Amino acid sequence: MKTVSVKASGNYDVIIGTDLISQIGKYASQIRSHCKAAVISDTNVWPIYGELVSASLSAAGFATIHFTFPAGEASKNANTYLEILNFLAENQVTRTDLVIALGGGVVGDITGFAAATFLRGVSYIQVPTSLLAMVDSSVGGKTAIDLPAGKNLVGAFKQPKLVLCDISTLNTLPQKLFLDGCAEVIKYGMLYDADLIYYLQQTGPDFDREQVIAECVSLKRNVVQDDEFDTGARQKLNFGHTIGHGIETNSNFQNTHGQAVAAGMSIVTKAAASRGICTYDTYQMLTELLQRFSLPISTNFSAQALYQSALSDKKRAGGTVSLIIPREPGHCDIFPMPVSELESFIEAGL
Ligand code: NAD
Ligand code: ZN
Repeated sequence: MKTVSVKASGNYDVIIGTDLISQIGKYASQIRSHCKAAVISDTNVWPIYGELVSASLSAAGFATIHFTFPAGEASKNANTYLEILNFLAENQVTRTDLVIALGGGVVGDITGFAAATFLRGVSYIQVPTSLLAMVDSSVGGKTAIDLPAGKNLVGAFKQPKLVLCDISTLNTLPQKLFLDGCAEVIKYGMLYDADLIYYLQQTGPDFDREQVIAECVSLKRNVVQDDEFDTGARQKLNFGHTIGHGIETNSNFQNTHGQAVAAGMSIVTKAAASRGICTYDTYQMLTELLQRFSLPISTNFSAQALYQSALSDKKRAGGTVSLIIPREPGHCDIFPMPVSELESFIEAGL
């Protein structure tokens, strides 16, 4: 078991280990005790882990209630958000109670946003069950829902009180989704940690999960502590995401987040190599690694289609978009690029 402590606007621990959710009652009691625990989950995760979580919470003295919504990104919308708020209100959840997000990034993001806004803020715990949620979305306090106009357009910064990463839950995560999360793991390596890249080159997807997840969480912790509200260094976590979001949107979310980010990282790196910003060796190394994880390295969408999506990206500031470009494994820079140059830049990466 490993613990990573985050010191941001709220301080909390991220605990990474096996068989943690069967002890969730014990861990939650250290935050709040003898109150309601409202567990929010989705229709895939709740049937597998709901009973275990409820039993542990009840045994620890919590009055446990739960709400589930249909699994998938399509649920991360204003309707589900309102349903969660109504559920909390109808069950008279108060500020002295606890909200628990049990699931992947969709559950974590929407539950976090509900917790940030219900009664102007109630305490919540993240229990991520997908690799992506463990290494990325559950840590750092970004919460959100999607609008028809784009992903994550409404949200709040709200740090959880605790994050429990039970790696045993990854045993039921479909392999394709596990590999999806690996795209974010590779992203951390490219951004901050060359040794992680060299290690992943050797292991492929059979890496030591506890070790690598703890490593990624501590890298993200460093970034969040540096720039909690995403005005500078935190933007680097967007590596591959400007183009990745374009791929997700254009595919109507048939391409998953990790697949889209993998292709996005590869496209931006190829474009950078073609402009002499990084070497072709870096591009080649990245694409070989992504392929080792069965992740895509390109897309059929046109530069124009991807450019149009990038125009509505949150990272755009006026006429400039910030691209994250790797120099070499473990080192990336933020490149402000005039929007007028973006389409031809993307074209060079396809
Ligand atoms: P997800 O929550 O939709 O989970 C993917 C699928 O796996 C779902 O069908 C889910 O039901 C299922 N699942 C999850 N855990 C499982 C398990 N242990 N066993 C069986 N099935 C399981 O998606 P995701 O990939 O976890 O997260 C993507 C979301 O995260 C996106 O909405 C993205 O915007 C968000 N995100 C947020 C941040 C942030 O900082 N807040 C960062 C990155 C991504
Ligand atoms: Zn991501």
